[in-house]
Amino acid sequence: MNRQRHIFIIILLLCFNRGFAQDVEYPFAADIRQFVENDRLNPPPRHAILFIGSSSFRMWSDLQNSFPDLPVINRGFGGSTLVDQLRYADDIIFPYAPKQIVIYCGENDLASGDLVSPEIVIGRFKNLFSLIRSRLPDVRITYISMKPSPSRWNLAEKFVKANQGIQEFLKSMPNTGFVDVWDLMLDKNQLPDSSLFVADMLHMNSEGYRIWQKAIYPELMTDREMARFIDDLMKKMTIEEKIGQLNLCTGGLFFTGPAVPKDNQGLIRQGKVGAILNTFGVDNVTALQKMAVDETRLGIPMIFGLDVIHGFRTIFPIPLAQASSWDMESIERSERIAASEATAMGINWAYAPMVDISRDPRWGRVMEGAGEDTYLGSCIAAARVKGFQGEDLSDENTLMACVKHFAAYGAPQGGREYNTVDMSERTLREWYLPPYRAAVDAGAGSVMTSFNEIAGVPSSSNRWLLTDLLRNNWGFDGFVVSDWTSIPELILHGVAADSADAARLAINAGLDMDMAGMVYLKYIKVLIEKGQVSEETLNKSARRILEAKYKLGLFEDPYRYCNKSREENEIMTAENMTFARTFAASSMVLLKNDKKTLPVSKKVKAIAVIGPLGDSKENILGGWGAAGQWDSCVTVLAGIKKKTAGTVKVFYERGCEITGTDKGGFDKALEAAQKADFVVLALGERQDMSGEASSRSDISLPGVQMELARKVISTGKPVAVVLFNGRPVTITELNDIAPAILEAWFGGTQAGNAIADVLFGDVNPSGKLTMTFPRNVGQIPIFYNTKNTGRPFDPRLTDDYFKSRYQDVANSPLYPFGFGLSYTTFKYSPVIMNKTSFIKGDLIEASVGITNAGNYDGVEIVQLYIRDRVGNVTRPVKELKGFQRVSIKKGETAKVSFTLHLSDLSYYHEDMSFDYDPGEFELFIGPNSDVKEFTLFTVR
Ligand code: BGC
Repeated sequence: MNRQRHIFIIILLLCFNRGFAQDVEYPFAADIRQFVENDRLNPPPRHAILFIGSSSFRMWSDLQNSFPDLPVINRGFGGSTLVDQLRYADDIIFPYAPKQIVIYCGENDLASGDLVSPEIVIGRFKNLFSLIRSRLPDVRITYISMKPSPSRWNLAEKFVKANQGIQEFLKSMPNTGFVDVWDLMLDKNQLPDSSLFVADMLHMNSEGYRIWQKAIYPELMTDREMARFIDDLMKKMTIEEKIGQLNLCTGGLFFTGPAVPKDNQGLIRQGKVGAILNTFGVDNVTALQKMAVDETRLGIPMIFGLDVIHGFRTIFPIPLAQASSWDMESIERSERIAASEATAMGINWAYAPMVDISRDPRWGRVMEGAGEDTYLGSCIAAARVKGFQGEDLSDENTLMACVKHFAAYGAPQGGREYNTVDMSERTLREWYLPPYRAAVDAGAGSVMTSFNEIAGVPSSSNRWLLTDLLRNNWGFDGFVVSDWTSIPELILHGVAADSADAARLAINAGLDMDMAGMVYLKYIKVLIEKGQVSEETLNKSARRILEAKYKLGLFEDPYRYCNKSREENEIMTAENMTFARTFAASSMVLLKNDKKTLPVSKKVKAIAVIGPLGDSKENILGGWGAAGQWDSCVTVLAGIKKKTAGTVKVFYERGCEITGTDKGGFDKALEAAQKADFVVLALGERQDMSGEASSRSDISLPGVQMELARKVISTGKPVAVVLFNGRPVTITELNDIAPAILEAWFGGTQAGNAIADVLFGDVNPSGKLTMTFPRNVGQIPIFYNTKNTGRPFDPRLTDDYFKSRYQDVANSPLYPFGFGLSYTTFKYSPVIMNKTSFIKGDLIEASVGITNAGNYDGVEIVQLYIRDRVGNVTRPVKELKGFQRVSIKKGETAKVSFTLHLSDLSYYHEDMSFDYDPGEFELFIGPNSDVKEFTLFTVR
């Protein structure tokens, strides 16, 4: 009895709760929940054609059947208005990353009462349009005009007016379409044709929909021509020719791995090479392309790839440095320039962006990525793809991106290159995968597998990763290439018995192209004969590669990227060099600046440049210099001399080598320091100490540089240390004793000029770290978005023993993620939020005033973090959810506003569903991840 009563009370409570929940919901919340639930059970394709709007779509249940050859998603819901589309955009638009959105909406707005005029509807449409474009800049937006229906004929005038306004607006916007169904649905008396409607005279019957289908079809984005072309070509191809397409060989200019095939030219002539890497220059590329086009049976052109990682010939700062600028426009522009230079010299495929998240600075390849944060890393991944690929892959100055290394290559155990990766599925999905997905969503044409395994499965044979997740779930429709010999390396991993077995595993997993391994070429045919690989699998891989060639425009013109005049005129232009200088300056991070040591005072008459990196052209470009020429680089010494143009005496002493124990140069270095009234101490790593195969177990300054620093600093002269390194380094002692430290990374072609710009105050430094700097190696892995643990340590309670802490070093880093100083000071006012309690459909808006209270104009990188206080699984103590780079003149105040969607609070639950839950959240806005003050808000 007692039990029954309990159950009754629980049911009552549940009913009450439901009622209550309805009170705080906007209309249609139930429809939306249904969509979300359906999507969870049956994930729709990404990059599809999305139909949104009111009931006409909702009732068009066989929408997919009307467009059988196209991927279509229907998210119309009956009676909805443009306001509803705006409110639920997070649920019914953005999760699908559609390539086209077809909108049919507005009639219900006008039918809702006299207060809503056509002008209001046009305004609402514009709002929806700009929301979509702000988050999906490349999406095609098509509007289906309102229709003339007998039951709403009284509103005809308003409908026509709204149709006209929307059509006019769309005409002025790129990548849009307008399908006019109005005239098609009128009878000969210019009245709504009632034979097209069901009994309510509002909704259409199948005849009505047939008219719509005919009108809409031509407007939908399709690749029908490409499909026809490739069908025809593949019909003519033999099995051997198809296998040839899957083979990527080195052209021989330089090598990044052990296996170098000998007779590539012979193979090309036999149609056994689909693409070439590491050859550039119009003459070289033309010669090889001619062999493929003129001497093979079908004349299929080859793709030419190269590691274009931070510039092609004009070299920009290393990617980790670029990330420190937090400047998406500049990052995109740098890739635009890199693409334009590379394509001028024959390259049409870049092995970039590298988007591996890493929390371990021992791993040398952190220089190639964006650092430790997933959100920032995803923004950068998308910007890079857009920069490379531009609007149209077939333009002569755009190239195809290759996002790498899929997946989780940045988490090798112990930070040791090529080492094993093992992590929970939640960590993989939440922290490591999103940047690859962002690159795929931005349209990356290809993906490179990683060398590592994850949980026992090497990426190059991981069917779940390459097919289930990448293709089926994310909707990737480009091709997958292995990393250098990563297919035969499956033997050494211990999952393949021999090369044939490795080829079998890889191609069946969904890996289309074999880089330098030569095992596809040798074994796929035999594997097909034995029935271990299906011909269908081969066809799929070959088709994907041919499609890429089609998109690059190579079938139209195989020599599209071999243009002598571009090669002569579009490389290292004055404009490119100017940008390289500005970008390098904005990538630097001022780590310390006691007593306003920097900028160098105008009173300074003699400067000593000391240190092994002060005049080292070989160590300026950074580890992946592509076609960059080190002898054209500007060193710090050269930059300072040029800047001071004889008005200041400049001495230079090397002091010591980068590595080694020789202190023979110390005395002269100290003499130089004594003669000067300002010292620039240029210290750091050799450029080949970071990058591929460059892990270090000790990441302090190598050799005797720290000793040199101690001596020079003890002269008491004002000293600014300029650091050159491709990873966070441990410089705890240097930070204690040096008056000023500028992190200059490896800044590329114009580094020396850019450093001088910052040292002398022509540029006010604004970069902020995107990787935590540890105090010592023992703290690694160290990153800001850590978990609280059940025993968090409070540094104010030093005798708190049984807490998560070290006995010999603080938990905190030397410099936190997001940290960087400026010559000016920025003061933050308290955060203001639009509400303190949110329900589904609300936007979270937070703003802050920032005053430039110092003496220099400056740029501040404002960061927004959140913390979910109670999760279904443990949540990090902070997560970056937004950032802005704002320029503020001295004495002025800028208002900086952020908008978050509730879905931005989502994470993977215990059952791996991705959602947010009600509860309390902390919101922080500040200058770096160490920001303490927060504003509390609730989600109901
Ligand atoms: C690297 C890749 C690179 C490839 C081609 C490999 O060793 O891991 O990042 O794209 O070589 O150079």
